[in-house]
Amino acid sequence: MDAAASLIAEWEDLLARRPAFRDSLGLYGAVLEAWGRWSPEGSPVLRWGPEHCRERWERGVSLIVEAPPTFDREALEPLFAPLLEELAALGEEEGEALSRFAAAWDEGRFAPRELLPGLQKEGGRALSETLGISPDLVNFVTYLGLRPPLETYFAEARAAFSPDLWDAGACPFCTGAPSFGDIGEDGKRWLCCALCGGRWTIGRLRCPFCDNRDAKTLTRLAAEDQEEGYLVEACDLCRGYLKGVDRRTRWNAASALIEDWGTPHLDLIARRRGYWRATPSLIQLAPPLDEA
Ligand SMILES: [Zn+2]
Ligand SMILES: [Zn+2]
Repeated sequence: MDAAASLIAEWEDLLARRPAFRDSLGLYGAVLEAWGRWSPEGSPVLRWGPEHCRERWERGVSLIVEAPPTFDREALEPLFAPLLEELAALGEEEGEALSRFAAAWDEGRFAPRELLPGLQKEGGRALSETLGISPDLVNFVTYLGLRPPLETYFAEARAAFSPDLWDAGACPFCTGAPSFGDIGEDGKRWLCCALCGGRWTIGRLRCPFCDNRDAKTLTRLAAEDQEEGYLVEACDLCRGYLKGVDRRTRWNAASALIEDWGTPHLDLIARRRGYWRATPSLIQLAPPLDEA
């Protein structure tokens, strides 16, 4: 995955800017190395033509729902094995949960695609209960283990997408919730999916989680001074929040994924105000000591 090399460079650059996070966020570096070693050769690619893709988007359907990928378990091992190892080091409980996950994986008790939010049975509760693993942990494994093959899967479909075809809070490719917001040079608000790397736009004053459009109940926390350009957009109806960056003031910001990983202090600010995050993050699994 060529993209992994530039993500690794961005990540190194971010840690140089925020050295205090180097130890606590070490897991992400190991994940990026696994992504860099993984070869997309032979991994499935969605071969739908532009009309097929657009027809789904016009109906408001994310592509994955009508074209679920069939991933080869063995081909994913180089992504999952190092990830499970890193995560198991978080604690005894996680270690045990992940060995149950690994055993079920080896025995073929679930297909890799059953991990995907858009294809999970009963919203993922069934798998999480069968395996005895918290939904947060299953989701975290999914997001970090399946990103490279999902990027490969949607590589051709991306070209068919244009923002005017889609007007929803969820990812037009994989149904994932947005994990980061990008205010572009043009002032447009882009939502970024950490699961597949998809991007789409919705209005500035709109909650992507519950569709609330009332400015009175939409809260925007803007960082100041050194952190100028970073923001947290939250909804006081559903209490969901989304971190983001305004590239008009923060022109040198890294990609959405790297900026999301590298700003756990903004997650803490949102959590302390009682807001929740829709996509998995290390901070949910290993909260700082004063919150544990
Ligand atoms: Zn997506
Ligand atoms: Zn909301």
